[in-house]
Amino acid sequence: MKIKFADRMGHFRASDIREILKVTADPEIISFAGGLPAPELFPIEELKTVTAEVLERCGREALQYSTTEGYLPLREKIAARTNAKFGTALEGGDILVMSGSQQALDYAGKVFLDDGDAVICESPTYLGAISAFLGYSPRFVEVATDDDGMDPRDLERVLRSEPRARIIYVIPDFQNPTGRTWSVERREAFMDVVRQFDVVVVEDNPYGELRFQGPIFPALKSMDTRGQVILQGTFSKVFCPGMRIAWIAASPEIMEKFVFVKQAGDLHTSTISQREIDAYLEAYDIEEHVEKLVALYRERCFVMLEAMEREFPPSVRFVRPDGGLFTWVELPEGINARDLLSRCLKEKVAFVPGGAFYPNGGHENTLRLNFSNMPPERIRDGIGLMGKVLRSYSL
Ligand code: PMP
Repeated sequence: MKIKFADRMGHFRASDIREILKVTADPEIISFAGGLPAPELFPIEELKTVTAEVLERCGREALQYSTTEGYLPLREKIAARTNAKFGTALEGGDILVMSGSQQALDYAGKVFLDDGDAVICESPTYLGAISAFLGYSPRFVEVATDDDGMDPRDLERVLRSEPRARIIYVIPDFQNPTGRTWSVERREAFMDVVRQFDVVVVEDNPYGELRFQGPIFPALKSMDTRGQVILQGTFSKVFCPGMRIAWIAASPEIMEKFVFVKQAGDLHTSTISQREIDAYLEAYDIEEHVEKLVALYRERCFVMLEAMEREFPPSVRFVRPDGGLFTWVELPEGINARDLLSRCLKEKVAFVPGGAFYPNGGHENTLRLNFSNMPPERIRDGIGLMGKVLRSYSL
């Protein structure tokens, strides 16, 4: 039979990353491709303890349906941690618990986008956000972005020429894919521009706590005077992604719409996962856990940067991240990262070609490297092999 799918299905295709990750399931491959946290630091023993404790103390509530907004004690803890780290002034009631921030991106699309509306984003931006928004048939408008973040003048120009701008999607801290972080001045300049327009900002911040040195910068949400910014956070990178616990912080007017959509989408986020994380936060010091993650990722990042400096030809440029999971490489114009990938796969090294992170295409001479998921020896070996392949281009 000829199956008639909805028109919107035309927007979905197998993502490059999924295809590459299939190849990297081979344990012989040195993979810089995924965005996976280091599994050796997952708090397995602690989770065993708190799961038993939750089932013992409140098993009936933990296994029951629950409210769409989420478990209030957890929402209060999320608000307090976010305030302490990112300078916001949130209360438990401002937090809506989500099944991963990926769900929050999909719901932002559902709440704000009609066909042909504009999503304004950094150039490049997170591939998962492009995929989530694509389901709502928007146009993507990329704003010039450099080492300090989005260019506020270019943003103002875009907003003046785009009456259908509905979402500005940004990742100011240790961005996926580039690892770059916006300076405080750029954050202020960005907010000065967006305050002049009736457009919502989605500030996606999964990596902000994973800072290798120096103070954490204030969130855009902390400078939000008009209820314009939706801040997204997640436990995926500071705890574990398998639980799928994330949240948004938004004004009551926006929150109400997200609650409607979530009620229709999945009723609520897993009750038992919320209770487990809440019990973990009660019983253990998550900041100690985050410090361990930071120490591990800082070392891995350092090893990768040092190896790139040694092994890559000088015409290859790369970002020096201050935190997070990724760095970003720009090859000389004319070298295609997809071609480089197929040569590197023969040497059993994988990464993600950067073109996929530009919603309107181009920039095929870029690539993303993840440093969180491989031990230092394999990072050195992998970068060494990439260097060998790069030198074969006679740069
Ligand atoms: N946003 C960004 C920028 C990400 O890098 C990721 C994870 N790769 C997500 C959202 C999704 O996170 P979650 O596990 O909370 O759905």
